[in-house]
Amino acid sequence: MIDEKRLAKLFLRLAALDAPSLEERLVADAVTAELTALGLEVVEDDAAGRLGGTTGNLLCRVPANWALLGLPDAEPSPGPDVTLRQEQAPLLFSTHLDTVQPCRGKQVFLGRDRVFRSDGTTILGADDLAGVCAVLALLHELRDGKQPHRPLELLFSVAEEVHLQGISVFDTRVLMAREGYVLDTSGAPGTGVIAAPGHVHLHFDVQGRPAHAGIAPETGISAIAVAAMGIARMNLGRIDPETTANIGRIEGGGETNIVAGRCTVTAECRSLDPDRLSAQTRHMIDCMEQAAAETGASVTVQTHQSYHPYRVDPDQPVARRFQAACTAIGKSARLIATGGGSDLNVLSRAGLSGMVLSCGMQQVHSNAEHLSLDDLSDLVLLLLALVDSSC
Ligand SMILES: [Zn+2]
Repeated sequence: MIDEKRLAKLFLRLAALDAPSLEERLVADAVTAELTALGLEVVEDDAAGRLGGTTGNLLCRVPANWALLGLPDAEPSPGPDVTLRQEQAPLLFSTHLDTVQPCRGKQVFLGRDRVFRSDGTTILGADDLAGVCAVLALLHELRDGKQPHRPLELLFSVAEEVHLQGISVFDTRVLMAREGYVLDTSGAPGTGVIAAPGHVHLHFDVQGRPAHAGIAPETGISAIAVAAMGIARMNLGRIDPETTANIGRIEGGGETNIVAGRCTVTAECRSLDPDRLSAQTRHMIDCMEQAAAETGASVTVQTHQSYHPYRVDPDQPVARRFQAACTAIGKSARLIATGGGSDLNVLSRAGLSGMVLSCGMQQVHSNAEHLSLDDLSDLVLLLLALVDSSC
């Protein structure tokens, strides 16, 4: 059984700390103190300096069977294959320390219905404190239960909510794990994400020709009209089951008596499939370039691939272990694809085979965000099953 009192106290304590992206110092220090008190070492990288934030990404290594080490009767009584377990590669659990806004001065409660909520004026911060607390609680439970376990690497990233900035500057070469779980998506534990899209950001700068709109409009080229023509030709929204596209912002022009000389447009596209991602990107650029060419305007295009897609086969060990762990705690595993990005998009690019796991958080990125203590407890049980050295 999970020590739910301790778990609830931990969540309330961490959720009371302000941790907007790039200002994660308070929660990072609290997490470091927890880990240090357990006798573990925490290394903080140089992300603070590189990103202009207050805090770096934290990495903590937990040796195999750490929960048995240093205990008076720690001799390898738990099973015949303790030496073999020592040689297992570590499993990575990754979470992020920052939260979206509004998050300052959070008042967080555990209701009589066993659900954590804010007072409604801020987010709760279960994204991603549910993951962070579950990892810390896992260590407490391993210690209490003297349970043998695989070696672990625990990563706590910063600035995840602002385009995965923290993980993007993290040196993934220091990781020894080849498999791992990012604890960072909504829904009750038991669901795991096995595919996520890549993401391309587009920026169009359309240059027309300014002119007096009343006296000589025929000498001008409206950059706004050109941008509108380009956008109207684009396939947007849901392109196919794996691909989406959207215009984010259109900006330009000035007074109504001036034919707008300039207009900028930002857009994005996403796809689970790398080829469709490039095809959709190309399509959007072509539409805008053709509109410019036909009207005598010009357009400068900048594209940036924010992150790359990943896909894990349900038969791969990382997915099989998750399914076995779900069964072990009496849940049926659900494997899904998602439309959003996470730190795993960056970690998988570095060769990690991984999944993103549902952590119980609900209605994230809103002031109605909430988390049930039962789901949080289930998440800890799931982690306990995942670190079982026989899995
Ligand atoms: Zn998150």
